[in-house]
Amino acid sequence: MKTLENFINGEFVLGSNKQSFDNINPINGSLICKVSEASERDVDLAVSAARSALAGPWGKMKLAERSQMLYAVAAEIKRRFDEFLDAEVADTGKPVSLASHIDIPRGAANFEIFADIVKNVPGEYFEMPTPDGTGAINYSIRVPKGVIGVICPWNLPLLLMTWKVGPALACGNTVIVKPSEETPSTATLLGEVMNAVGVPKGVYNVIHGFGPGSAGEFLTKHPGVDAITFTGETGTGEAIMANASKGVRPVSLELGGKNAGLVFADCDIDAAIDGIGRAAFANCGQVCLGTERVYVERTIFDEFVGKLKSYAENLKLGAPQDKSTNLGPLISKEHQQKVLRYYEKAREDGAAVITGGGIPQMPEELSKGSWIQPTIWTGLAEKSAVMSEEIFGPCAHLTPFDEEDEAIRLANDTPYGLATTLWTTNLSRAHRVASQIDVGICWINSWFLRDLRTAFGGMKNSGIGREGGVHSLEFYTELRNVCVKL
Ligand code: NAD
Repeated sequence: MKTLENFINGEFVLGSNKQSFDNINPINGSLICKVSEASERDVDLAVSAARSALAGPWGKMKLAERSQMLYAVAAEIKRRFDEFLDAEVADTGKPVSLASHIDIPRGAANFEIFADIVKNVPGEYFEMPTPDGTGAINYSIRVPKGVIGVICPWNLPLLLMTWKVGPALACGNTVIVKPSEETPSTATLLGEVMNAVGVPKGVYNVIHGFGPGSAGEFLTKHPGVDAITFTGETGTGEAIMANASKGVRPVSLELGGKNAGLVFADCDIDAAIDGIGRAAFANCGQVCLGTERVYVERTIFDEFVGKLKSYAENLKLGAPQDKSTNLGPLISKEHQQKVLRYYEKAREDGAAVITGGGIPQMPEELSKGSWIQPTIWTGLAEKSAVMSEEIFGPCAHLTPFDEEDEAIRLANDTPYGLATTLWTTNLSRAHRVASQIDVGICWINSWFLRDLRTAFGGMKNSGIGREGGVHSLEFYTELRNVCVKL
């Protein structure tokens, strides 16, 4: 049985404590491989390697050369596309149609786009008078922050990891990545890519393990890590922020959501069904930007419920390689149990189950996977935990509303503030409502459309900071002012 190793200082190494854990395929519960868990000592080694690389060839490399190297990383991911695809699909169980369209291409694009951005970002320049009349000039330069700890979730493993590693490297930092214990494969494979294109050793490191008492905590507590970027649950973000406070180290936190969809009666209803259907069910509901609360104007409520029910019932669960599959399993048995507890809770709280609500009947060869039915409810009170807590499953609750202000109030009635998707053909309303929803991203007549140059992040409990485009540079560089007396 293969063991996935840590990638430290350009080499694949077993953890020094010789411990490993299982990487399970969520399609059928089979063992994909063992994963070598990094010890505290291994994390130390990774930090030392990353610090040395900063002081060494990587730190001295010119921007143009560094950018070329990142284009080469992207090209090598594309060349090895099928290996990345197979690894991602095995770890997550997501349909090939999805991973080949989003996860892997975006994984490569994240290196290209940030290589472009760092080359084109302007600086500041100010002239100032001085008492002796000669004057002074000020200009800004951006310098790397140093060693960045990158802690990643399992829902879009390569995409979300490179979303951080791409800009971090483009800005001249070095990184230590702690992929999710559920999806360790593509981060490891990327180590091979880094070596193949000649990225100096120690620039990109991968340590495997869990959160508390394991690699995640060792990394975020390590004083040799200069900044931490994290995507995952809000509670984990709070723990990481507490660790980062020691040494006053900056954090970028992309956290959970309980996103609302707003559907107005004047929308194009078929487009809205398609958009809300994707927002609720894509990637088996395991998208931070997904929609678990949908508010629909009362005059079209019954029609909308009927059409979304048909959408959900037409989704095809199945093996990822099957071209007709558009819904995979949940990431793990543990997550399946969590989602099922919410399905149970919805019933206890008096929901009408419009469709789904349990575990689907799957063919024998898939029966040990962590499958779940796409589910729609109506009739829950806003105070139900199903309405306020992030479930991260393929489910949505539909609630009717009468007035625009009421819809805005309902959408904002959550401790989270990540994303909203709103559907209307009234242009004035679209702009009016978008400006009043407390979120980092508001989609109008669309969902999950991402221009990588734009700001991405959440308000309230959904995170701190913005990444994407030049906004990523705010986190991955320090802006230094140079003042020159003339
Ligand atoms: P998670 O918080 O359980 O785990 C994320 C990572 O943190 C894993 O690598 C885990 O090992 C590590 N970790 C856990 N505890 C830690 C600790 N104490 N110290 C250091 N590391 C620790 O999240 P998940 O279940 O992998 O992912 C799903 C969550 O991620 C959802 O809440 C989802 O909304 C969120 N998410 C947010 C975004 C966004 O951009 N806002 C994107 C994707 C996912």
